Amino acid sequence: MNKKQGSKSCDVLILGAGPGGYTAAIRAGQAGLKVVIVEGEKPGGTCLNVGCIPSKALIHAANAFQNVKKCEQDNPLGIGLGGGSARLDLSKTIRWKDGIVGRLNKGVEGLLKKAGIEQITGWGRMLDGKTCEVSVDDGSTLIHAEHVVLATGSISMELPSLPFGGKVISSTEALALNDVPEKLVVVGGGYIGLELGTAFAKFGSDVHVVEFADRILPHYDKEIGKVVLQSLKNLGVSVSTEAEAKSLSEDGASLVVGLKDGSEMALPADKVLVTVGRKPRLEGWGANSLYLTMRDGFIAINDQCQTSMTDVYAIGDVTGEPMLAHRAIAQGEVVADILAGKPRRFDPMVIPAICFTDPEVVSAGLSPEEAEAAGYDVLIGQFPFAANGKAMVAEVETGFVRVVARKDNQLVLGIQAVGKGVAELAASFGLALEMGARLDDIAGTIHAHPTQGEALQEAAFAALGHPLHI
Ligand code: FAD
Repeated sequence: MNKKQGSKSCDVLILGAGPGGYTAAIRAGQAGLKVVIVEGEKPGGTCLNVGCIPSKALIHAANAFQNVKKCEQDNPLGIGLGGGSARLDLSKTIRWKDGIVGRLNKGVEGLLKKAGIEQITGWGRMLDGKTCEVSVDDGSTLIHAEHVVLATGSISMELPSLPFGGKVISSTEALALNDVPEKLVVVGGGYIGLELGTAFAKFGSDVHVVEFADRILPHYDKEIGKVVLQSLKNLGVSVSTEAEAKSLSEDGASLVVGLKDGSEMALPADKVLVTVGRKPRLEGWGANSLYLTMRDGFIAINDQCQTSMTDVYAIGDVTGEPMLAHRAIAQGEVVADILAGKPRRFDPMVIPAICFTDPEVVSAGLSPEEAEAAGYDVLIGQFPFAANGKAMVAEVETGFVRVVARKDNQLVLGIQAVGKGVAELAASFGLALEMGARLDDIAGTIHAHPTQGEALQEAAFAALGHPLHI
């Protein structure tokens, strides 16, 4: 069969249809620009297909299973299974999760279509700063663009001594397991490893987390990490810190781990889930044919998401930390507006980060340690969920909300929370920080009762020196 070569031109070519790329495409299309978006896999990127959404689906299913399991025993709520026991068919759970992902894939496709975007499925390769060649089923297409947006995202990092394959898996494979591994070793105690490790522990796996640093969640403050650690222990998850995953044992049955004192231990493992971080996807799309300045291994951009090349922009994970979907989305919007001629900058006050562990963690702005390190004299107010009525009736009394503010003018610098369901508080934390709230603004905002959100107002009261319910 003769391979066909077509060509087309557009105002904006977007490489990668993850949260960054598809947002930029929709907004640019809405502004009337002629946009082509190229995606090698399904629209939605890592986040929708093998990241945020499927992981939260599994976490939800694990919580549902745990709640039913609790009813096997006598419990204060008086709910029982009449002698029956909770059962799990993980392959069915995975089919349910795939169904949600499929619906969202179609949703993104529909939104792109509605905005008049041309979608090309295939792997694109930049030939220069204005031309991309896309391999499609029956040949290739050359796309010439006035502007290019690079949104190729990131991939899981591998440990050289533990390459992916066989029982060594990345988060992608962990999200598609049809059976619950009896023994799961998680290498890396960051948010991805702990989210998935917790879910599998609830599904019934015997989970051991191996972390190189001296504590889990090393990117979050210590006090928060301690609450999550205690909860992991309560769940039966073992945690080894200052421990280095070395390789599989000779018979392949265990993971060999080096300990701080120089000794080694072998952890029996049916699966070894390696979640030691993600790296920008810079291979396979012709990055070498471009003259891109790099910063810390990522594509360097300015506050308008412009790279070192004229008319070439980059957004999302390929441009740096925090590698989070909402940062990619926000950058996608900014770039599209800039391409449509609007004066925009990507200069957020705050990018909240959430760990969907149990309990969940939200961190927005500066922690007390970071604020002090930045030279601020600070006021700190903290309110425990143990004193919050809604948390009590929902049986989620672990954790707290904490507010960090400047002592001189009470400007709020940071808000953190750890507790079940606190992810939904991230929006109000972000809003307060972005709008430059002072402690009085939060304390003076009537928070609806009974909600866990009241803990934010109470934390502000505490920081002002007049706590109410404690
Ligand atoms: P990506 O989503 O990685 O999309 C890039 C796209 O580009 C991909 O679809 C890829 O196929 C495509 N592409 C790459 N090269 C080419 C090419 N040459 N041609 C065509 N297409 C190409 N973030 C959160 O904010 N919240 C969470 O709860 C969260 N949970 C996560 C859980 C897991 C398990 C993982 C792995 C990640 C999670 N993340 C989470 C991170 C989030 O997924 C990323 O930050 C986000 O997807 C980045 O978006 P992006 O658009 O930059 O890139």
